[in-house]
Amino acid sequence: MSDRDVVVRLDGLHKSFGRLEVVRGVDMEVHRGEVVVVFGRSGSGKSTVLRCVNFIDDPSAGSVEVAGIRLEGGHRTRRKREQIRQLRLHVGMVFQQFNLFPNMTVLDNVTCAPRCAGRGTGDEIVERARDLLDRVGLSDKAEEHPIRLSGGQQQRVAIARALAMEPDVMLFDEPTSALDPELTGEVLAVMKSLATEMRMTMIVVTHEMGFAREVADRMAFFHEGRILEQGPPDQLITSPAHPETRAFLDAVL
Ligand code: ADP
Ligand code: MG
Repeated sequence: MSDRDVVVRLDGLHKSFGRLEVVRGVDMEVHRGEVVVVFGRSGSGKSTVLRCVNFIDDPSAGSVEVAGIRLEGGHRTRRKREQIRQLRLHVGMVFQQFNLFPNMTVLDNVTCAPRCAGRGTGDEIVERARDLLDRVGLSDKAEEHPIRLSGGQQQRVAIARALAMEPDVMLFDEPTSALDPELTGEVLAVMKSLATEMRMTMIVVTHEMGFAREVADRMAFFHEGRILEQGPPDQLITSPAHPETRAFLDAVL
């Protein structure tokens, strides 16, 4: 595949918090349209890597490239802050906690960022937001406030909100683990439709192995701040190369 198709590239990514080295040399390339599922024990550095991709956390060493914008960690000069702002325009992120703006309607939650960024006229922005709400199955909730929605519905709004900026890649950090089990299916179904219908590039931290098997092109097992192994879901789930991977899978399957 040509270099143009690389949406995210991590090169020798390291991240320490004080003396605690949490990410210890992660290299990863994600191509346009690819879905990568990241899994591994709690504390293995999964969230930190995602947070480095859009510079919520600054890498201690190594580089991050998104949509052709390559940035290293280190001191935030004025120029670098501007580059981070540019890079973030290409990244949508969905967290375990939905983090919707509680005082805004669903529609305003979705239109907020594109409005601030001046992405088209007010009417265009609203029309796009309504399309997205339709896509996540919530066109009838546009005027509601988040508190009136179920967790699954709130998470679907969060997905629509992230999509509203038309990102090149969507990052999902355990998007269903705060949900009651009966609500995870509707969120996973929306994520699956992003992959299959929109060909969205996605990095998904999840332990939903059914979703991974069905939707992921590749899975990466994180262990102690590194990718211990990666490969197609069938291979990784049924015949992992490392005992750590097998032990983890035995615990979650
Ligand atoms: P995972 O998502 O795989 O559970 P994390 O990336 O959240 O792992 O965390 C990896 C390690 O980094 C954990 O030991 C966590 O306590 C530590 N950590 C994460 N963020 C911070 C922070 N801001 N300050 C100090 N330690 C942190
Ligand atoms: Mg995490």
